[in-house]
Amino acid sequence: MPTYQYACTACGHQLEAVQSFSDESLTVCPACDGKLRKLFSGVGVVFKGSGFYRTDSRNAASAAAPASPSSTPSSTPAPAQSTPAPSSSSSTPAPAA
Ligand SMILES: [Zn+2]
Repeated sequence: MPTYQYACTACGHQLEAVQSFSDESLTVCPACDGKLRKLFSGVGVVFKGSGFYRTDSRNAASAAAPASPSSTPSSTPAPAQSTPAPSSSSSTPAPAA
């Protein structure tokens, strides 16, 4: 089971939690009820399994990566997806009858 490290954004309290991949992330600081954020600073989040075991993943081939149940660490947050919005259709002009 991987160990996740959290830090409170309000008071700086840090804690570690051993969770399985399917567990929900902690979000509330036990000390001050502040908001926790997950740290991925080299803690033992190691993907060990019979399906995927990659030690050398500097060029993380996202295409070949298996579907990860939880958020993958050390992956740059994806930018906002650009939704292909068609021409602005705020008001549909009614055809003159
Ligand atoms: Zn706190």
